[in-house]
Amino acid sequence: MTGFTEDELVQAVRTILGGAAPGVLLGPGDDAALVEPGAHVGVLTADLLIEGVHFERASIAARDLGHKSLTVNVSDVAAMGGSPRYGLVSLGVPPDVELSWLVELFGGIRDAAQDYGMSVVGGDTSRAECIVVSVAVTGEVAAAGAVTRAGARPGDRVVVTGALGAAAGGVRLAREGDRAALTSDWGRALIAAADRPSARVGEGQTLAGAGASAMIDISDGLARDLGRVCAESHVGAAVRLADVPVAEALRPFGAAFGVEPLQLALGGGEDYELLACLPPERVEDARAALRERFDTALTDVGAVRASPGMVAVAADGSERPLEPSGWDHFAA
Ligand SMILES: [Mg+2]
Repeated sequence: MTGFTEDELVQAVRTILGGAAPGVLLGPGDDAALVEPGAHVGVLTADLLIEGVHFERASIAARDLGHKSLTVNVSDVAAMGGSPRYGLVSLGVPPDVELSWLVELFGGIRDAAQDYGMSVVGGDTSRAECIVVSVAVTGEVAAAGAVTRAGARPGDRVVVTGALGAAAGGVRLAREGDRAALTSDWGRALIAAADRPSARVGEGQTLAGAGASAMIDISDGLARDLGRVCAESHVGAAVRLADVPVAEALRPFGAAFGVEPLQLALGGGEDYELLACLPPERVEDARAALRERFDTALTDVGAVRASPGMVAVAADGSERPLEPSGWDHFAA
């Protein structure tokens, strides 16, 4: 690293992340952190964000990247029905990165930790060829309350939180680089969805409490992530295309750039909404609880079936295979 020493960076990070936090006996700065273990089962997850693979330095603000690096991990904890507790952040830093950029990155990490009621307690830095943000998050979940991908049963309803496809729309729009579109209300909404996603922590716990038989966060698109649940649960699923909650901002984007909004909702990634399977009699209560507690929509998009494979159901009731990449409207 040039322009600043590793000690200067560590000092800056301690200033940004330091301070007393619940459960943290010793925070960043020593050989290791000391935390209270918590009363429940531990949830552990890790995620890598690599420049040129997961993001481009020029197209995301450092603060947003920091926030997102924690969010993608917290989303995995949420998908188990758990709550996040502690985070470790390790960075690969190329020589041309300024200390101010790293301070912004850690500012975003601190903002996210506050949003999710957790503490970042340590990490590491190293010189690298490109920016690497490696985050590990621990959380906890009551043993009986953990929800995996493996419990879906034939007859369960498939439900999703929020609306889908906006993040994928944002990525496409950033690539188009159309100034008028980027500064429109819908353009800003799409970019924000891509750069500043939120993890659905409270919603995940509510869905777990409502009796979810399986759950996953939608990081790679509804079709692909539902496919993962089906594979782990040894079931199939039918998705009614007309019921898929397509993000509003995708409609003007689709009209302007000739993109099918439903395609992005089914096949686009990085929404970090939750997909759960619920016994039919639990859906109404879960929907009411999500609306009341979080003002989050819950949409019934289809059903779990005993027969393997996923199908897309059109408005007229006809069925065709649902590919992991989404629904190909040219195949209609
Ligand atoms: Mg996940």
